[in-house]
Amino acid sequence: MHSSDIWDDEDERRHKLMVDAVHDHGALASIELHHGGAHAMRRLSREHALSPSGLAGELPPPAGPLGTPKIMTVEDIDRVEQSFVDAAVRGRNAGYDIVDVLAGYGYLFAQFLSPFHNHRNDRYGGSLENRARFWVETLSRVRDAVGADCAIATRMSVQTQGPWGHTLEESAALIEMADPLVDLWDLNVGSVLDWGSDISPSRVIPEGRNMDLFTRIRGATEKPIVGVSRWTSPDSMAQAVRSGVIDIIGSARQSIADPFFPQKLYEGRTEDIRECMGINHCISSLDRGNMACAQNATAGEEYRRGWHPERFEPLEDKNASILVVGAGPAGLEAAIGLAKRGAEMVHLVDSADQVGGHLRPVVELPGLREWGRFIDHRLIQVDKLSNLQFIPATTLDADAILDYGASHVVIATGARWLRNGLTPSTHAALPGLDGLKWVFTPEQLLLGGERPTPGCRVSVYDAEGGYLGSSLAQLLANEGYNVSIVTPHASVAAEGDLTLDGPAVRSSLHASGVAMYRDVLLTEAGLGVLRGVGEFEVPFSLETDAAVLVTMRSPVDDLYQQLMADRQALDASGIDAVYCIGDALSPRPLAEVMFDGHRLAREFESPDPSSPLPYKRESLRLVD
Ligand code: ADP
Repeated sequence: MHSSDIWDDEDERRHKLMVDAVHDHGALASIELHHGGAHAMRRLSREHALSPSGLAGELPPPAGPLGTPKIMTVEDIDRVEQSFVDAAVRGRNAGYDIVDVLAGYGYLFAQFLSPFHNHRNDRYGGSLENRARFWVETLSRVRDAVGADCAIATRMSVQTQGPWGHTLEESAALIEMADPLVDLWDLNVGSVLDWGSDISPSRVIPEGRNMDLFTRIRGATEKPIVGVSRWTSPDSMAQAVRSGVIDIIGSARQSIADPFFPQKLYEGRTEDIRECMGINHCISSLDRGNMACAQNATAGEEYRRGWHPERFEPLEDKNASILVVGAGPAGLEAAIGLAKRGAEMVHLVDSADQVGGHLRPVVELPGLREWGRFIDHRLIQVDKLSNLQFIPATTLDADAILDYGASHVVIATGARWLRNGLTPSTHAALPGLDGLKWVFTPEQLLLGGERPTPGCRVSVYDAEGGYLGSSLAQLLANEGYNVSIVTPHASVAAEGDLTLDGPAVRSSLHASGVAMYRDVLLTEAGLGVLRGVGEFEVPFSLETDAAVLVTMRSPVDDLYQQLMADRQALDASGIDAVYCIGDALSPRPLAEVMFDGHRLAREFESPDPSSPLPYKRESLRLVD
């Protein structure tokens, strides 16, 4: 998921390896050529950024790295055009079938197209035709260089939020202008400044939302259009293509969640599709340096850990009979993996009536319905696997586990939210909580227990900063309470700034009348009041009737501890090994606990399945 270079023969050779592999599978390969312009991060090149603007210093880029970019001279323009041509030629030589010139996302060409950025008064600025010249010239030169061998595509954002893009009407005119040079249009919405419009989170943007916009520009071209719109459902994809508005589905996240999506569709196995839930863990984890997926544990691990997304190596011990306690995300994933590996019997036992664990009530929260795909997909697999049995409404204690007759036991009993206000920053419980009429943990609210008196003041203390605090605040506001949210993070729903739903979530809270306090660390509660300190030690106090504490979770691991404490009893029971996974081991986000279960299943017969095997790292080979 990192962009790569195509500057020299060695780069070309590396690309060819990948392109050949793509061709071996009967697919076409496309290369997207990109210049960030004013938004170039310059991490490795350490060059200055480039910008079209003619107003030196007066119009710095509205975001991006520090500094005012250099205004491009006509020579710079020519040099960059030639760089696109050189890259296209190398792409063609590496075997790519499609060369895509990126003109979207608010990057270099989009900056020229935008009247907000482009204030030039030469032939590259002013009228729409002039603003489009750099891009059209580049397309033309790329077409002349490789157009006989490759299809030429260009990615354009048909609409962006805020003032920095161009309008939909201008998009239609631009499409008409460049149409003769293009074989394929690759259309999206949004820019680097409103990334969430493009990589839209399901929490705030429905699937297919861009179709209205695409409909309005369809008349501008008869060439095929690739359209993105968080497509995940085969039915809506088919409908979009049948409508004639777009011709090809662009859907990166669905390919991450299930790389075998097209094959499953082709084979009519739609029930096996792992549908992307739009949780955007791919984006937040990419920002942290390693792209991962909350639906698909194998994403990014195919080479590194040798995990095929669909194939599971059979267990050597065909007689393994495995008891998994807890059917939350971790237990479910472990049980399914072990059943797919051919364990003789996997029993998945839960106190609850249904699978899903902590995620089950979460999907009822405002906007989180699509996260339920995590459970739906796994439920179908549980039903299909004859060696996997879900046993609901059964609470096991240590004795029951010892008597169960299993050869292996996996404890996936989850975690619970603390009710004492302990946070990682204070390392202490919040004193004085008795002074409030009501104190709730998230579970108490989620499971539909007691609620405060209708209309009273409720404060959500979100020291965690994940999705839950803001979702509960929204829920309570929808229920008519007078809601505040307090967080020690620099923004409310801080993680949302990485999963790209933060701005929309905050807007929605604001529109619902939720008061938001950020950068506040609570230090104590009193009679009807919460007190703390804001930035620069500024005292903070908030009158409230109820507090909802979203601070930290502690593992529910007593079963595991009890079993491990009595080795003799374990030996006598015939249990070979007991493992603890998921939130019961260490409370973490969904993607990580799911990964835990998957990893255990994959490495079940390693010398020490509790500890992950080393994975392949990138390294330079030392030569004598
Ligand atoms: P994770 O996120 O690690 O998968 P969850 O909290 O989602 O964990 O799920 C834990 C599940 O374990 C819950 O569904 C809970 O009902 C179940 N559970 C906890 N203790 C027991 C027990 N003693 N017997 C059976 N099920 C249990």
